[in-house]
Amino acid sequence: MQILPEPPKAHNSQKTKQERIQGATRLSEASPEDAPWSMHGSNAQTLMVWFSVGDEWQQKKAEKMEYCGRELIFAVKKNGEHKLKKAEFCRIRFCPRCVWRRSLAWKARWYGAWPELMKEVPKARFFHLVLSTPNVPVEDLKKELSLMNTAWKRMISRNTWPAIGFVRSTEVTIEKTRKGYVNPHFHCLVMVRNSYFKEWNYMTADTWRTYWASALGRHPEEMNKPFIRAIDPKLGVDGVAAAVREVFKYAVKGIEMKKNDRGDWVQTLLEMDRQLKGTQATALGGLIRQAFKGREEVTEEEMLAVKDESDSEAEKYLRYLYHFILREYRLGGELAKDDIEALEETNNRREKKKAERKGALSKPLPAELQASPEVKEDWDLNKVGLKLGEQDQKKQNRIRKLEGL
Ligand SMILES: [Zn+2]
Repeated sequence: MQILPEPPKAHNSQKTKQERIQGATRLSEASPEDAPWSMHGSNAQTLMVWFSVGDEWQQKKAEKMEYCGRELIFAVKKNGEHKLKKAEFCRIRFCPRCVWRRSLAWKARWYGAWPELMKEVPKARFFHLVLSTPNVPVEDLKKELSLMNTAWKRMISRNTWPAIGFVRSTEVTIEKTRKGYVNPHFHCLVMVRNSYFKEWNYMTADTWRTYWASALGRHPEEMNKPFIRAIDPKLGVDGVAAAVREVFKYAVKGIEMKKNDRGDWVQTLLEMDRQLKGTQATALGGLIRQAFKGREEVTEEEMLAVKDESDSEAEKYLRYLYHFILREYRLGGELAKDDIEALEETNNRREKKKAERKGALSKPLPAELQASPEVKEDWDLNKVGLKLGEQDQKKQNRIRKLEGL
């Protein structure tokens, strides 16, 4: 008697993409392009733990980070495509989730501003420039950044300044070899006229080093060589948008590598956070400033909608929740379309009422305080702190209810 071989067992990889998406409870499977949510969520969780052992102010930040992106609501199309519809962001400078969304929002902004920029200067070229100073003890970071900012202003007001626009982000890395040393640097996307790339006009990395050193009043040999990478004009807006994403990719590097480190690195990070309080994170200049109407910060709305396609064909709305033990996003249930509309309406009403109640807080910062960015940060954080305190209980109840689903 002939024994027939057993039919092969159905294996995951044999399921069609559609089937995998339909049955997925992990966000990373249901929408692979949203997989970074879990990675950044996990890093944010680590950072939250570190901040929770910091000073009172940092503990407050840890509390805010706990709620950042905890619940995500996506509009889902028939083909399984997910579009983020609702999330709350803590907007803490180091928060990995917020840094990631901010960089995507900046990328999206470029696609919007591109036609206007090209109309102004049709053959404009762009390059990525990184300027730094020698590493400093973390206690001197604020002072060093202030010198760098002054030098930057001096540099861009010279008549030899070659750019017609720029966007600049401040990043700090922690030195690996010496304890408590950090490296502040400016990541810039610089816009120039096409003629900049002509031999007689082009500035090499060495020229940039001298140029930057003289603005800082230092000897060029003390300085690190700047990083320069020209964006290939053939790539058009895609090349520039990808570069601007690089500019905003980190506020602090290395979080993912230091998950188990509770020692000096964390102390340096906490001090770095204190030093950065009230310092400027982003700067815009020239035509780029004009194209973005001087808005140096992206809004929550921009952090949500980083893709411009509409969700009008949405078949359903899915809720995903960040799971603190699994360190990933899991499906938390489906929302009816009506529900989400009602939810939005309630949210708008609640926000409006709250703004009326807290009239003083919704007013702009008094003029005499506007000069100090430090005070502004306190003001902004207090506003959110209050908001969080009020919503705390309601949110926890809601989350408990959802987790029971
Ligand atoms: Zn955040």
